[in-house]
Amino acid sequence: MRTVLAVDVGGTKLAAGVVTVDGAVLARAEVATPATLDPEVLTKALMELAREVTSSGPAPTAVGIGSAGPLDPAAGTVSPVNIPAWRDYPIVETLSEIAPHTPTVLAGDGHCMALAEHWRTHHHSRALLGMVVSTGVGGGLVLDGRLHLGPSGNAGHIGHIVVDLNGPPCACGGRGCVEACASGPAMVRWADAHGWPTTDARALARDAANGHETATRAFRRAAGALAAAIVSTAALVDLDDVVIGGGVADAGEVIFAPLRAAVGELAGLPFVRRVRIHASQLGRDAGLLGAAALAFDALPGSRRQA
Ligand SMILES: [Zn+2]
Repeated sequence: MRTVLAVDVGGTKLAAGVVTVDGAVLARAEVATPATLDPEVLTKALMELAREVTSSGPAPTAVGIGSAGPLDPAAGTVSPVNIPAWRDYPIVETLSEIAPHTPTVLAGDGHCMALAEHWRTHHHSRALLGMVVSTGVGGGLVLDGRLHLGPSGNAGHIGHIVVDLNGPPCACGGRGCVEACASGPAMVRWADAHGWPTTDARALARDAANGHETATRAFRRAAGALAAAIVSTAALVDLDDVVIGGGVADAGEVIFAPLRAAVGELAGLPFVRRVRIHASQLGRDAGLLGAAALAFDALPGSRRQA
């Protein structure tokens, strides 16, 4: 059976898995991302994971890597914000040792989430936007079954759509981005500035679920920013589906109820209003499955099975 090695690189964990063409994860392993400034310590952890999952079974036919950004897919390098030891780290070259002479491909973690959601849950969607709303806001666009990467490999950066012309500065250097309004830390900062200091977005979600007004307003404001981005994207590419995952999305109806309401208010044209909004159902496997989809798509003539 044809399998690929999928690797998911994040600031919290490193994961690797062997995945079949119909999306079954045959082997998986993960480890907390070592807190180190030594790139070799990270490399060793990554390679041990990859060897562990590939040690039994046939050699993988391709390798797919999803990573926290920034990254340079053309150069095959990553510089994840939350992994300071890796700057322009040649992850493609490193991992290609595991399966020499096979395609080894790299994309952003948001890209992989969108691909995974399309592959495993919403295969019939012609235009799908995946969003990861967490410490930052990431995402990816799948159009006609293919990940839309753009010339630099960065298309689909939904977190940096501008939704507030007078909005707060964003970590990207811009201003008024979705991420600056709707990420977990952005919500916590807003609540704090409005007289409701809290420890993190999870606590803020509990407060909102219990009906506290400032916490509820913080979620309503974040939902408005997400809705503006969704409606704008729907107008641009004629979206069928939006799938939202990440820690903030785990807040459930606390975020999804005001989000649906805001989309209803902001969207006008019938083709924009028809966009469907879903919570991610894949959970922790989204990164691995998306990296696997990326790897299969790099194989000539490969057909992933829905
Ligand atoms: Zn930004």
